[in-house]
Amino acid sequence: MSHFCVNCGATLVPRVIDGRELEACPNDSFVLWRDPKVATAVVVEVEGGIVLGRRSIEPGYGLWCLPGGFVNDDEDPADAATRECLEEINAQVELTGLLGVYHIPKTGAPSMVGISYRGRLADGARLAAGAEMLEVRVFQLDSLPPLAFPSHERVLAEYLRSPARAEAGELRSGVATARHVSPPSRSRAQSRPPRRR
Ligand SMILES: [Zn+2]
Repeated sequence: MSHFCVNCGATLVPRVIDGRELEACPNDSFVLWRDPKVATAVVVEVEGGIVLGRRSIEPGYGLWCLPGGFVNDDEDPADAATRECLEEINAQVELTGLLGVYHIPKTGAPSMVGISYRGRLADGARLAAGAEMLEVRVFQLDSLPPLAFPSHERVLAEYLRSPARAEAGELRSGVATARHVSPPSRSRAQSRPPRRR
């Protein structure tokens, strides 16, 4: 299938860049980079269990998944994660830590970089199914259902292994606030005083 330059409309031609064969414009600097899409997933801890939603859309209709979704270009992944929680489980979620970063290879679609967080419900937040969910429920860790996506299975496996999970009880006390995950750029800006020379 032909692809076209977003600048001048010319048909792209093969070009080898850094050892990869890509498609590039013969007239200008446009290159069709095969970049991954970025998606988040959140393990929301509630009373010893975690929150899953049962999907009302494809892919994975009728199957359970973690709240999460794609990161927009202008969003910090942590903000995307909490936005998706609001949309999918109708609850304000506070992120309490980073679980992991994963490459999710795909064929026939862009591969993905998955970023998973741990989180908990904000004070007073209640669960309700968002538009893309048939229902949301809290599952105990020893009775988790099969999930819609292998990448979410991987996140949960990682979560179940994580030493931080043992501290989950501790997060309900005062420690939680100190561990709130803010977008990295902002928190770095806050914790470092400006330096001048
Ligand atoms: Zn062009």
